[in-house]
Amino acid sequence: MRQSQLFLPTMREVPSDAEAISHQLMLRAGMIRPLAAGIYSYMPLGRRVLRKIENIIREEMDAAGAQEMLMPSMQPTELWQESGRYSIYGPELMRLHDRHGREFALGPTAEEVVTSIVRNEINTYRKLPLILYQIQTKYRDERRPRFGLLRGREFLMKDAYSFDVDMEGLDQSYRMMSSAYHRIFDRLGIQVRAVEADAGAIGGEGGTQEFMALADIGEDTIASCDHCDYAANLKRAVAREGQMAPVNQHDPASREPERFYTPGIHTIDQLVQQLQLDAKKLIKTLIYRAGDSAIAVLVRGDHEVNDIKLMHALGLEQMELADSATVERITGAPVGFAGPLGLSVPIYVDLAVAGMRDAVVGGNEQDYHIRHVQPGRDFALHHVLDLRNVVAGDGCSRCDGGHLRFSRGIEVGQIFKLGTRYSEKMRATFLDANGREQKMMMGCYGIGVSRILSSVIEQRHDDQGILWPDSIAPYRIHIVPISTQDSVQMSLAESIYQRLSAAGMEVLIDDRDERPGTKFKDSDLIGIPYRIVIGKHAAEGKVELKHRGRKESEILGVEELFARIVGPSKGEER
Ligand code: ATP
Ligand code: MG
Repeated sequence: MRQSQLFLPTMREVPSDAEAISHQLMLRAGMIRPLAAGIYSYMPLGRRVLRKIENIIREEMDAAGAQEMLMPSMQPTELWQESGRYSIYGPELMRLHDRHGREFALGPTAEEVVTSIVRNEINTYRKLPLILYQIQTKYRDERRPRFGLLRGREFLMKDAYSFDVDMEGLDQSYRMMSSAYHRIFDRLGIQVRAVEADAGAIGGEGGTQEFMALADIGEDTIASCDHCDYAANLKRAVAREGQMAPVNQHDPASREPERFYTPGIHTIDQLVQQLQLDAKKLIKTLIYRAGDSAIAVLVRGDHEVNDIKLMHALGLEQMELADSATVERITGAPVGFAGPLGLSVPIYVDLAVAGMRDAVVGGNEQDYHIRHVQPGRDFALHHVLDLRNVVAGDGCSRCDGGHLRFSRGIEVGQIFKLGTRYSEKMRATFLDANGREQKMMMGCYGIGVSRILSSVIEQRHDDQGILWPDSIAPYRIHIVPISTQDSVQMSLAESIYQRLSAAGMEVLIDDRDERPGTKFKDSDLIGIPYRIVIGKHAAEGKVELKHRGRKESEILGVEELFARIVGPSKGEER
């Protein structure tokens, strides 16, 4: 491709509204342009990379025995009613009406559609197992679209669905997809960590893993052990302490509860700062609305409630903190003074609280707290569970000596064992070998194709631009003649361009009449792996070869250059 003809609008300055490096670089490298919040066009360079990512995914899915199809984005919402997800999915689901008033959703994922297809076409165990997939645009009206392609409202996803006769079959499909995912991310040149995850709105009881691209901008927190291979999303992570049976022994020597005056002190921080109390000695009491009623949740002062663990404990799909009027009605005090003593609502107690001896709690009265409180003696311990987020330094729940530490990740993929979550609701059944009707065992497997584009750049860039891995670079080789006015340079450049192209290489030649500085800056920015500079050595038939990721360059004769680039490394390099 000749750069003079390529639609490649690069930008020198850093766009002010782009926070993430990958977002900045993709805008500057002319790869994407915004149309509306979270909605982007892929310019030719962006489209090339996206297509390469798609193809690697496609090859590995095909190799794993999955079959590609393409399902509609417009999905009748009756299907969502059937699966029961219509109400759970909430405002993220983009809805529209046709001229007859029939409601549709723009698919955020396709469990309903694929299940409706398979239930109509398959009715015997002989046609199972089956894994279907598609690479298709998805829509989610995200609350906070941001970071460019990392969180879009219209984005490209690979979604796969497995159908098996039993749990054993599902386990096998799941393992196959998991190893395909490892191969995919490996080929994409992206560093990922597979972590235990929560099933979220997709549901299913089987088990699920997320594939996290390690990056500081990531919105997910990963807790991992410094000793064994345990790693989990913070939403899901359990500490060794979080598995212990509650310590519920009274300390007979301890003092009786005592009210004390704490004017204007209504946060844990204030108790710690102004009264010099240790957060580990405080109990935080939070009032939640759970369905039509309210509950209190207790965690230690230095801990945070994990909403997902709490929802699982209560068997709810949604819950939120109570408003201040509800808090006042239940505790008799303004927000900030809630405590467990004398509360009439059910109290859910985190394990770490159950073991406390001499705690400070809110007094359920304005400007008062209570000290020398003992869980189990001063309030009942009916519901004691692991309800908190783990913190760095917590013991590992998997091994003996390890401790948890945190890192940030971008979720680039997730795999789920759905079990019969959808086949039951949507009646996707088959006849087994004994002629009995059984529900299909399902799994689903997503990869954020467009999100990967951003994630690779988050992991592979320097202050000049992008560093593409060979496997998904928009072009493999960038030929940069220093001066288009110099006929010797131009004819050498042209002959190398022709020869490399004929050898099947993807080559971009910068034939623009620009200053060398501009050409080099653009070249670094778009990050093509190999750069061949044709300058003053052209007269001797020599060129300069530089790899984007390395500082040093080499002066080579033309034959040496071909041997280097075309010769030994025809296969895919990573
Ligand atoms: P997140 O927690 O980041 O919102 P999710 O768990 O809701 O993602 P899934 O339903 O598991 O996402 O979708 C499969 C994959 O699609 C995700 O692993 C992610 O890579 C990608 N993805 C999800 N939402 C978006 C989005 N808004 N923009 C780009 N990619 C997305
Ligand atoms: Mg997910």
